[in-house]
Amino acid sequence: RQGAAAPYLEGLNPEQRLAVETTEGPVLVLAGAGTGKTRVLTTRIAHILATGRAYPSQILAVTFTNKAAREMKARIGVLVGQAIEGMPWLGTFHSIGVKLLRRHAELAGLKSSFTILDTDDQIRLLKQLIQAEGLDDKRWPARQFAQMIDGWKNKGLVPKDIPEGDARAFANGKGRELYTAYQERLKTLNAVDFGDLLLHPIRIFRENPDVLAEYHRKFKYILVDEYQDTNTAQYLWLRLLAQRPQIKSGLPAEGRARDRAPGDVSPAPAEDQPPQAAERPVSENKQQQINICCVGDDDQSIYGWRGAEVDNILRFEKDFPGATVIRLERNYRSTAHILGAASHLIAHNEGRLGKTLFTDAADPDDPKVKVHAAWDSEEEARALGEEIEALQAKEHALNDMAILVRASFQMREFEDRFVTLGLNYRVIGGPRFYERMEIRDALAYFRVVAQGADDLAFERIVNVPKRGLGEAAVRQIHDVARMRGAPLLQAARDLVGTEEMKPKPRAALRNLVESFERWQGMLERTPHTELAELILEESGYTDMWKNDRSAEAPGRLENLKELIRSMEEYESLRGFLEHVALVMDAERDEELDAVSLMTLHSAKGLEFDTVFLPGWEEGLFPHQRALDEGGRSGLEEERRLAYVGLTRAKKNLHVWFTSNRRIHGLWQSTIPSRFLDELPEAHVEVAEDGGAYGGYGRPLGDRQPGRPNPYGPSRFDEAAEVFSSTYATPGWQRAQKNRTDATARNWGTRSGHQVERIGYGE
Ligand code: ATP
Ligand code: MG
Repeated sequence: RQGAAAPYLEGLNPEQRLAVETTEGPVLVLAGAGTGKTRVLTTRIAHILATGRAYPSQILAVTFTNKAAREMKARIGVLVGQAIEGMPWLGTFHSIGVKLLRRHAELAGLKSSFTILDTDDQIRLLKQLIQAEGLDDKRWPARQFAQMIDGWKNKGLVPKDIPEGDARAFANGKGRELYTAYQERLKTLNAVDFGDLLLHPIRIFRENPDVLAEYHRKFKYILVDEYQDTNTAQYLWLRLLAQRPQIKSGLPAEGRARDRAPGDVSPAPAEDQPPQAAERPVSENKQQQINICCVGDDDQSIYGWRGAEVDNILRFEKDFPGATVIRLERNYRSTAHILGAASHLIAHNEGRLGKTLFTDAADPDDPKVKVHAAWDSEEEARALGEEIEALQAKEHALNDMAILVRASFQMREFEDRFVTLGLNYRVIGGPRFYERMEIRDALAYFRVVAQGADDLAFERIVNVPKRGLGEAAVRQIHDVARMRGAPLLQAARDLVGTEEMKPKPRAALRNLVESFERWQGMLERTPHTELAELILEESGYTDMWKNDRSAEAPGRLENLKELIRSMEEYESLRGFLEHVALVMDAERDEELDAVSLMTLHSAKGLEFDTVFLPGWEEGLFPHQRALDEGGRSGLEEERRLAYVGLTRAKKNLHVWFTSNRRIHGLWQSTIPSRFLDELPEAHVEVAEDGGAYGGYGRPLGDRQPGRPNPYGPSRFDEAAEVFSSTYATPGWQRAQKNRTDATARNWGTRSGHQVERIGYGE
């Protein structure tokens, strides 16, 4: 022992400490769930700061969600013993990408005020392009093409790079052309999609070595959490930043002046000023040293369907020769039962590195993992609600409980139930609120005010509320825009100055254009929440809902109010809009004690005392589509997802399955998930309430009126028997065998293609 360790190092085990203190050179921490990988990263940053190795602005740290970034920042502050000013480069790949691109927008042919399109905008835009090509957009759906583009972007491919076969696969060989047109169109709109947030910086770095060199000098330390889920583009991006080639002569040592868009008038942030020589961090002279630390777990790679490459983690030592690889084996999160169940399950996967995991927390009083059965999802929600209320009665905080679903449609049932029970809950990981129609409309108004060239936003609200600007009028505006190569708003402005439009629509359009100009003029001087409210009033949008007699109207008005309220947390309209575009997991009511509801995908990295895993049925989990499209590797990814779910729990773990489920409107009787079979008996018990539906199953006569029950009593008995015989009897095994046969058939017919975006999960 050499001297007293810094307080933040206390309590770390020797391997963790090694990972924290090996600050120089490449480090890979490869370890199972709950072993403290994220904690190591956080402590490592604290250590770097506390020992003066770098300033906060010289650390690039990548987390998987915005929420994780916020938590990490707060945690570092605690460890260092003071609030951390800055850490401007701690965030997700996307949020860091936005920041880079705002600085260097003009190198990508954009203005720094560019808009970030969401999927909806993207699809509408693609649809226009597909139709403009004279193609049938039913035959060649924009949604499908959006997925293809996404896939290419995840691989870091610009139009000229995409494989011939891919290019041919869409729209009779027009794939490449359309992709090119799409990128051109984005440029005119001064807009980017999510993929561009990585793709543009990659290109900027590749084409401007001086810009790259600037960041090489800037980032002394690079850290990445959840490394197993980086996709190829993220990997390329990281590698550009982390690998420092011999700096070619001819480049001025200080690089060029920071690239700023002409319109960008904000002062250069202080973080950009290089530290004065006297206070330069010690590592300054080790310019070529690559101080990158990635942590991950191959068993938790769950984004293969979205292009993540678990191989990145396996390649680390090759990419960074001399890397220190550290394994952590002690799990600090879960009880022995939970860990035992999870380890046993994941052992069924073949393609894995294999890791040892143990815990010291083996208390004979710890509850086993509980498996529950329910008749259908309504009962599942009811039973789960009761379970939560029982825990609540025993003084368990709702904040310590989470329900993790395989597909987001499962949420509604729980939400309904919780509303009925008056149980606080929050949905994590989905832009649910912002996806509502009235919110999207309001945001479209704000977007046009913030960025006049945002044509998609303009189009969305040009006739909402109805102001007599129908299709014909919109077409006229489009024609002028195309002729002049101008944004729609500007074209509209030109159009109202001519006689081309009929008087009525012209007056309406003039009114709208002038309103936008007025609001834009107020942008800098009026508090943005006030302005937002004003926009919604003056545009007639609020009134539209006030005059609406439908049942939803009051709720929509409430949502609009909530939208304005939520803007208060941001300094400007632009800041708020950026937040909305990036929001994936932001929650505003953090102080409220509430059950968390989210998909398994968004639960990565989190932990809760009690975790509920509903819907463990074949077809839902493992999800049929993953099996169909991914075959064996699809199944293995589903199993990793199950592993992620199980390992989120610290103390109590409840798994549910129902024997009937309505999927896409159709009732189906279900088979318990094969994953249930893969949980070891020693760590699992069948919950008393569930066995043979003792607690929740009710006779048919007792079912709610109006609720169709497609199955006769015999089906009910059979399902119950399957369940009560869970771990031993032929009934169970028969079911198992049928599954296997069906799956084998699937495997036979499927290709290994699994990169496509599947419409569930996140
Ligand atoms: P995941 O793979 O799920 O992301 P992880 O490896 O990142 O897990 P952490 O979230 O960092 O694990 O840690 C899991 C839990 O164990 C946390 O509550 C953390 O505070 C705790 N923990 C980690 N290391 C230690 C330690 N040395 N002593 C006590 N608790 C620890
Ligand atoms: Mg983690």
